[in-house]
Amino acid sequence: MLKLAVLGSGSSGNSALVCHEDTRILVDAGLSARQLGTRLHALGVDPDSLTAIVLTHEHSDHTRGIDVFCRQRRLPVYATIRTAVVVREKMSSGVIWRQFEAGDSFEIGRVKIDSFSVPHDANDPVGYRFECAHSSLGFLSDVGHITRMILDRLKGVDTLFAEANYDETLLQNDTKRPWATKQRISNRHGHLSNEQTAELVCGIAGPNLSRVVLGHLSSDCNTPDLAAGVIATQLRERGHAGVVIECAGRDEPLPLAPVVHELIYRSRVAEEIRAKSARVCEPKAAAAKTPAPSGPHWNQTEWAF
Ligand SMILES: [Zn+2]
Ligand SMILES: [Zn+2]
Repeated sequence: MLKLAVLGSGSSGNSALVCHEDTRILVDAGLSARQLGTRLHALGVDPDSLTAIVLTHEHSDHTRGIDVFCRQRRLPVYATIRTAVVVREKMSSGVIWRQFEAGDSFEIGRVKIDSFSVPHDANDPVGYRFECAHSSLGFLSDVGHITRMILDRLKGVDTLFAEANYDETLLQNDTKRPWATKQRISNRHGHLSNEQTAELVCGIAGPNLSRVVLGHLSSDCNTPDLAAGVIATQLRERGHAGVVIECAGRDEPLPLAPVVHELIYRSRVAEEIRAKSARVCEPKAAAAKTPAPSGPHWNQTEWAF
């Protein structure tokens, strides 16, 4: 079953960990290499045991630790071609790049990963859907507005990590930021407000969604209580009161936790066993008509620098 931890989230640095058995994927590496190591150890994960790093986009709060972290270990870094071009320019360490086009699907270990384009002021930003062993996780960071594609790709996930960057009133009233910065944050290629994230969560909520982890909260223009409160209220009003909402912080990691409740996971495994045994009992002619499932699309280039 997939598990999610958040090492840290906010404008000072973003990084999360997605695990399935011995596959350990770091999503973004925007903390210093030292902090990445310290926080992985705090989660009980050896930094040398990671399988890969996957990037959402090139902004430094998502990539600043990669160079030094990868100097010490041979770790493939997955990114869209246009994201990799920018990150590579700033790196001195030898990194194995695995590049893909936004919209491609690929596998790391037994974890299937679907990428999809998102609107943000970066070269080629993406969100991800992770799936493995009867469990799924949606991952969305740094997005200016919610598109139909985002809703389609994230529908049905068990756990959603999504940014909830700012409270609209606090941002409007903020006196520290110049007007241009506020515009950049709130425009269609900036970040999500609590209200926009609530719309997203309600748009994908269904029987599977059990947990929402909010990240990238502004330290001046948001609070965990405000963000979680807006989303919980809107979920409750639309009949999804059972969803657990947590906020990832910038200083302390959010511990590794399964993306689906153990009891639900067991019932899915039992359902699969029942379905398999029912198929075995079907007449061969009927079974032959079932089309073979298509394998995951794998489209990437790979080279070392
Ligand atoms: Zn960011
Ligand atoms: Zn960004």
